[in-house]
Amino acid sequence: MTRAFESSSAGLLSAETILECGVCWWVYDPAKGDADYDLLPGTAFSDLPEDFCCPSCEAAGSKFMVLSGGDAVTAAAPKPPMEARIQSMIAAFEKAEANMIGLPIHNDKLSIEAVGFRPHEDGYVGVLITPWSMNLAWMPEDGDKGPEGLIGASRLHAFPSGRYSFLIGRVDGFGILETCSLFSPMEMFDDHKIAVAAANAAIEGLFEAPAPRKPAPRDEFSRRSILNVGGGAR
Ligand code: FE
Repeated sequence: MTRAFESSSAGLLSAETILECGVCWWVYDPAKGDADYDLLPGTAFSDLPEDFCCPSCEAAGSKFMVLSGGDAVTAAAPKPPMEARIQSMIAAFEKAEANMIGLPIHNDKLSIEAVGFRPHEDGYVGVLITPWSMNLAWMPEDGDKGPEGLIGASRLHAFPSGRYSFLIGRVDGFGILETCSLFSPMEMFDDHKIAVAAANAAIEGLFEAPAPRKPAPRDEFSRRSILNVGGGAR
């Protein structure tokens, strides 16, 4: 079976990993299976038939993304504080930058900065600015104890504003980092401060729930019209 996230990591999806169709959001939970489609409870996603496709929209199995339970390893060691993790990430990117300086993609007016990081889903999320890209970035709380087997796969993270697909990657000298691209390259930013302002706007927007719908004005009118009808009845 050619599921994108399995290529070099077959068997590393745990038997409990819940996946979701990336096209129509149909959810496959191995614990429940799906009686309507003869999928017995306890059937891991990786044990589904070769030609499995989404029962709802017929998308290929490769379109499915990890929804939860994708962590290959769980950590027992004490977790480093968020600030230490961020500094570790920045140090790794500063090291990587040495190979980027002088390339057309490298905007010399920008530097590496982590903006607005906060705890989210057993990890930390924020915006990572580099001279060549701006990404939403999610990292597991504890270094490498992330979904190692799923490097190169996509994973959904849920926020008040909606769900977004992050690409699971590994950064040398740091560990797992999942990213959702905001800008790349960064040539439109003439000033680092402008990039920081854009990053702040992005992270604030991410955690902002959509405004509740205003009550439909006609509710008011219909109430009045009911009263009018009553009053006008003869
Ligand atoms: Fe589907």
